[in-house]
Amino acid sequence: MLKFDIITIFPNIFDSYLKESLIARAQKKCLIKINVHNLRKWTRDRHKTVDDRPFGGGLGMVLKIEPLFKSIKALKKKNAKVILFTPRGKKFDQKMAYKFARAKHLIFICGRYEGVDERVVQHLVDEEVSIGDYDLMGGELPAMVVIETVARLIPGVLGKPQLLKERITKDKGFIEYEQYTRPEVFKKWRVPDVLLSGDHKKIEEWRQKHGKDIGN
Ligand code: SAM
Repeated sequence: MLKFDIITIFPNIFDSYLKESLIARAQKKCLIKINVHNLRKWTRDRHKTVDDRPFGGGLGMVLKIEPLFKSIKALKKKNAKVILFTPRGKKFDQKMAYKFARAKHLIFICGRYEGVDERVVQHLVDEEVSIGDYDLMGGELPAMVVIETVARLIPGVLGKPQLLKERITKDKGFIEYEQYTRPEVFKKWRVPDVLLSGDHKKIEEWRQKHGKDIGN
């Protein structure tokens, strides 16, 4: 079972996401386990302070190292990988998703404000991951994106496991192609004839030609 521990200062963001659809079912079936932790749990002061002003000046706040250090110390067991979400990180893709799907335990740190104290990166984090070249307000959405992409690769999570196999290309990539369903014609907009032909070889060729290989 792949275990995810998420460290965030906004744990409620995950509430509905984790209770719906295939992610909820995967947890019930014990295929994945997802724990969401409030970083403030690892603070000691009255205000549960997790951030402070940056040395050298600047407008934004920075997540402090002490609570993050304590949280990782408490959660990290053998075989765990600590991932920090940051737009500076390695771009997440299908290949990385397959790698994560083979892991046993992933700890996700969701940044906020101007990010985290750099010593967290230098001493506590195994990998920095970005979900794209744009700046979000926090690492919570990236955590959900990664969990969803990784979870669907775990055997048993998708209702029909052959869904994954039928998308593997000759070069062991992963193909995404156009899909259509009934009706065959809607407002004069027609489904491509080949898909109605019943000729599986031709359909396969068409899908390979029109699809996009998103790697593995
Ligand atoms: N300068 C900060 C940094 O390098 O992490 C960006 C701060 S951003 C406003 C707040 C947080 O959102 C980041 O710490 C990170 O956790 C998350 N974040 C924003 N964009 C992201 C992206 N494209 N991929 C992954 N995480 C992102």
